Amino acid sequence: MDFEDDLRAGDDELDYMRSISFRPNDRSGSLEGIPFVVKDAICVEGVETSAGSEILEGYKPVFNAAVVERLESSGAVFHGKTQQDEFGFGSFCTNCAHGTPRNPHDTSRVTGGSSGGAAAVCAATDKDILSIGESTGGSITNPAAYNGVFGLTPTYGRVPRTGLVSYSNSLDKIGVLSSSLELVAQGLEVVSGKDSGDQTSADRQVPEFSRESVPESLTVGVPTQLEQVDLEQPVRNNFEASLSKLENLGHDVERVDIPLLDPDVCVAAYYVMAVSEASTNLARFCGMRYGAEGNPGDHDDFNEYFSHVRGEKLGDEAKRRIILGTYARMAGYRDDFYVRAAKVRRKLIDQVEEAFDRYDLLAAPSMPGVAPTFEEAQDMSASETYAMDALTVGPNLAGVPQLSVPNGEGDGMPTGLQLIGPHWGEKLLIDTARQLGSE
Ligand code: GLN
Repeated sequence: MDFEDDLRAGDDELDYMRSISFRPNDRSGSLEGIPFVVKDAICVEGVETSAGSEILEGYKPVFNAAVVERLESSGAVFHGKTQQDEFGFGSFCTNCAHGTPRNPHDTSRVTGGSSGGAAAVCAATDKDILSIGESTGGSITNPAAYNGVFGLTPTYGRVPRTGLVSYSNSLDKIGVLSSSLELVAQGLEVVSGKDSGDQTSADRQVPEFSRESVPESLTVGVPTQLEQVDLEQPVRNNFEASLSKLENLGHDVERVDIPLLDPDVCVAAYYVMAVSEASTNLARFCGMRYGAEGNPGDHDDFNEYFSHVRGEKLGDEAKRRIILGTYARMAGYRDDFYVRAAKVRRKLIDQVEEAFDRYDLLAAPSMPGVAPTFEEAQDMSASETYAMDALTVGPNLAGVPQLSVPNGEGDGMPTGLQLIGPHWGEKLLIDTARQLGSE
């Protein structure tokens, strides 16, 4: 069976694909013949790109995102788009307009969000494929851990966002998931680097991620703030086993205090920042320029028309975030919310950078538990769901790279180790994961 048949068969059962569309590519390069899929929020020329939302239904971009262009130029073969939470709003991939992916390890469980389809497709096949995801506050680490695959979230600015439907521009990062660590390395090498279409993409040399070097006597810091999160027992056991493995490899493991990594602080600051930016980004979806349209003639004025289309086409979580974000940015409240969150982020970056003066890497579990069942996820309130991001929002606010590495199982479900590097430190993350894998 070739990969296309595999993809269809798996998708019938697990619903991880938003659309399957094979695009032949006879170019040669480092990824020649490697199948790739992209999260729905990433533009592919001529392929409906709805970022998991009904409001973008029918939108077919006339261009490729920079990452798609780069992958195809290096010979990789596009196979389709994966399901996601609407605009990236979620931790379980249950806020999707076009189908809810199920976890290949146990179909009664979620895939994690928001790049749930992106991780599930890797776990569902035994072929080596490359899956392009996006993270704002943990959307690569989280589903990678829940599905038992590798997920690399790069440094902010490493991979251009040109052609990504934005959630929160100052936090969004396109990254790579795969069951194969070597493909993660090769894929990252191809998609990284400055693009003139994204002024926040960094003009920096791209290391040869695919060339292995062996890390020697690293000092690994375990942030006490992240260790104190309420962890499920298998997650704690597997994390301790991973730390022992690092020690057996000759690395030092020490506890480190990074006060602002406190999950209560980070979850609050992250959600204020993210929803503020999301509420402005979503203003462009007004029933006129992109995607869904209504009948303007049926309404007295534009505001009424705009509210009607958005009322019909946006999901509950998107509406909640527009309301919260608009409030947090309003004159009179801005200083207390948005500006304060921005200050917390600035200080957090300083504290994290200071920690990296002494530590080569930081380590934490990827998620506090294994993937919950759909029932468990449904019973959580919005704020309980936001709290699930306790381990991932801090590193994302700081803009540093993270690699989620499968590190065992609990109750038959995979768990992940989150290696966190200094800005531009992806190579060390990959090399350390290689070393752990060869142990
Ligand atoms: N769960 C977080 C949120 O809903 C992160 C999602 C993401 O990284 N896109 O904002």
